[in-house]
Amino acid sequence: MNIIPTLPNYINGQWCTSSTTEYLEVINPATAEKLAQVPLSSASEVNQAVAAAVAAFVTWRRTPSTERVQYLFKLKNLLEEHHDDLARTITLECGKTLAESKGEMRRAIENVEVACGIPMMMQGTNLEDIARGIDEMMIRQPLGVAAVICPFNFPGMIPFWFLPYAIATGNTYIVKPSEKVPLTMQKIFQLLQKTGLPPGVINLVNGAKEVVDVILDHPQIRAISFVGSTPVAKYIYSRAAANGKRVQCQGGAKNPIIILPDADMEMTTRITADSAFGCAGQRCLAASIAVTIGEARQTFTAAIAETAKKRVVGNGLNKGVEMGPVIDIRSKTRIEGLIAKGAESGAKLLVDGRQPNITGYPQGNFISPTILQNVDPASEIARTEIFGPVLSLIHLDSIDDAIALVNSGQYGNMACLFTSSGAAARKFRYEAEAGNIGINIGVAAPMAFFPFSGWKESFFGDLHGQSNHAVEFFTQTKVVIERWPNNWSRQF
Ligand code: NAD
Repeated sequence: MNIIPTLPNYINGQWCTSSTTEYLEVINPATAEKLAQVPLSSASEVNQAVAAAVAAFVTWRRTPSTERVQYLFKLKNLLEEHHDDLARTITLECGKTLAESKGEMRRAIENVEVACGIPMMMQGTNLEDIARGIDEMMIRQPLGVAAVICPFNFPGMIPFWFLPYAIATGNTYIVKPSEKVPLTMQKIFQLLQKTGLPPGVINLVNGAKEVVDVILDHPQIRAISFVGSTPVAKYIYSRAAANGKRVQCQGGAKNPIIILPDADMEMTTRITADSAFGCAGQRCLAASIAVTIGEARQTFTAAIAETAKKRVVGNGLNKGVEMGPVIDIRSKTRIEGLIAKGAESGAKLLVDGRQPNITGYPQGNFISPTILQNVDPASEIARTEIFGPVLSLIHLDSIDDAIALVNSGQYGNMACLFTSSGAAARKFRYEAEAGNIGINIGVAAPMAFFPFSGWKESFFGDLHGQSNHAVEFFTQTKVVIERWPNNWSRQF
């Protein structure tokens, strides 16, 4: 019998076995192999992590920022050294291809690099002589203990939208990974431990809803970052805010891309296929709807169907595979159900990727690229986040109609336009109600030195993850007004 490892938590600089009796299995979505069991930790373990973080904060906030970032420089080197192993772990537990996992870790590393600039980024402002002989300054100070609650789809990258900025600005931190993909954070915490960070500065607590609720209610946690689905984002935002915490919650998405007839069709097709089917559509920046305008309909429809059919689906660890499975059987069943509903509501199944035969992986949660044509913009399939490799095609007459469709959606994570017209691009950038805009780009993922901007039901809060938004989120401003009586010359 294969004994699978039980994952520990990391609290106060120590790996600790959870005292819980409840566990979930971590399953490889391509093979159905059991990889580990993850504890559903209890309230007392969250309390221990918070106590460790509170104690560590006293010294950590007094550590000069130039010293704090030295740990991040070490982390950057360790992440580079272990890049391949981390990517392999992501693929094992999450299913995406090795190339996608490597790209994910690259984005994580970039956030560490940006946070190394905290001694510059954290600076305040000042002004001499706001009145005669009186000066005023605004300084930034850390909040205390902060925590992040993570989704399954980017186990390596998403915690890094927050963690490097939180600790570099002098906060202490707790990470709650997704219970579906906890292995990557185990490996990353082993590297964090190697940096020599003082005990309690970073803590890892595994678990699910119970752990989250304790985090939301804990009086000594000052700030919470969340990334996940919109219903959970709303819940976390309202409960944590009601408890007086600073909160930022990134939610779900339904991303439209618009294709004008003057677009470069070869490039548009390639980029759209990567956006819709990359990571098996489990990206919050995946294209979910493609809206063709005018003559773009004929050229694009034929080209995207051909590209979708050619995509190689399989175990993400294997060479040549371009798309892996979806995360679990529940997700597969839900996605297949939505495809069926789309077809029942009158859409044509141009490419049907349900129940593919993936040789050697009969138990994998595979769905091949799927395309629904003539989708009714008001139908469920056009409005619901699918989070799978499914693209809906809609045809409209004008860019104005397309922008109206974009703006009628409940989400606002990303919207993209494909065109060779600068005027059309400017109009779209100006009018589209989404926080991340792509012009001839299919996954408009902001680099680490820009905030990851979602709008509408894709985001609750005001300061986003990454970059200067993260620095502002993890610091509170203090304004000091100073007057110094000019009597020193008499004393000395
Ligand atoms: P999820 O909302 O199911 O879970 C996210 C986290 O919340 C997990 O850690 C989970 O343990 C916890 N959680 C789940 N249900 C909870 C509950 N009832 N109470 C308290 N905590 C709970 O999301 P997921 O399925 O892991 O991730 C996919 C979702 O994340 C998609 O909707 C996707 O669009 C979204 N996402 C958004 C972004 C973004 O930047 N906007 C990025 C990545 C993923």
